[in-house]
Amino acid sequence: MTSKMMLTLGTQRSAIREIAAWGAKRKQEIGPENVLDFSLGNPNVPAPDEVAEAILSIVQDSSPVSYNSYTASPGADDVRGIIADNLNRRFGTDYTAKNLYLTAGAAAALCIALSALVSSDKDEVIVFAPYFPEYKVFIEARGATMKVIPARPDFSMHPEDLEEAINENTAAVLINSPNNPSGFVYDEKTIHMLSDMLRKKSREFGRPIRIVSDEPYRELAYDVKVPFLPNYYDDTLVCYSWSKSLSLPGERIGYVLVPDKVTAADEMIAAIAGSGRALGYVCAPSLFQKVIGRCIDVMPDLRIYATNREKLIAGLEKAGYEFARPDGAFYFFIKSPFPGGGQEFHERAKKEDLLVVPGASFGAPDYVRLSYCTTTEAIERALPILQKLMDEK
Ligand code: PLP
Repeated sequence: MTSKMMLTLGTQRSAIREIAAWGAKRKQEIGPENVLDFSLGNPNVPAPDEVAEAILSIVQDSSPVSYNSYTASPGADDVRGIIADNLNRRFGTDYTAKNLYLTAGAAAALCIALSALVSSDKDEVIVFAPYFPEYKVFIEARGATMKVIPARPDFSMHPEDLEEAINENTAAVLINSPNNPSGFVYDEKTIHMLSDMLRKKSREFGRPIRIVSDEPYRELAYDVKVPFLPNYYDDTLVCYSWSKSLSLPGERIGYVLVPDKVTAADEMIAAIAGSGRALGYVCAPSLFQKVIGRCIDVMPDLRIYATNREKLIAGLEKAGYEFARPDGAFYFFIKSPFPGGGQEFHERAKKEDLLVVPGASFGAPDYVRLSYCTTTEAIERALPILQKLMDEK
């Protein structure tokens, strides 16, 4: 017999991958320069030079055994210490290596964290629409239920929505700020509201409700502060990666942070190790653990994204599109002007060889996601098409 769940997951490709596959085929037919592909969140900005320098120096100056070997399952002690020091400098915390568990990117970090905190098949994990579509897969594969709080038109978080969604089965609230697909960043006031609500509800239901903060876009914020959640709410696990900030999505490197202030932190740290073991991760990629150890202070060059963002804001406003200005990440989530919602927008755009992702898989079918980790030239060529689509409305 075959696992029905895994068979379904393996045969139903994600909407984003489906579109990207169509785009790859189309590029072969008409030339890559003629397909304006805004579908994937694969950073177009190359990894900073420091990354290549670190790889070369590690490979040239040390024995292959040292960078090809397994590390301890939570990651090399020295690298975890370097990451902890970096967080302490930036956020005034006092973490040590033991608070960090290195992972194969944020996706693995999320699966490991969710596995560690889901304790019954009645457990629910709350997410806010629009959300990263893989959350449903990650949560349901852990045997829990994903409970969606529908999107508000401006993507903001409201206490009454939380109050209604939280119950005695709520194990965690999964937050993603800066957000994929909307670029929305929760401000400090919102995080205080969320923290107060979760403290109240944890008391009411007699169980600590965790925040899982999914942060692959933390460093991609345009002139706004991204609050560091453990400083507001004790029961927070942070899932982080360098996939977007250092343009290293294929290298699979990230971490789960379990601060000491988490309820029964030592147990949670042990459960995180147990999850990594049960999921068969063994350890995060060794070479890239070392690379991160050397590049910990390298920050992304946001200039291309900032330019693309400005051009899109101006172009979309001029064309009359409805959207919330994104403060972070590299996505716009745009309201479809067509009666058939995001799907119709996607299909019309596809006829012009412009690829955008319909919002249904993000839990908001009236929208499309446009990913601007592309060249600025692609944006310049897309704007007249977006104008034309709006004129057809
Ligand atoms: N979380 C969100 C919101 C994402 O957009 C992504 C990737 O696009 C991930 C997690 C997974 O990131 P990683 O490549 O680090 O596994």
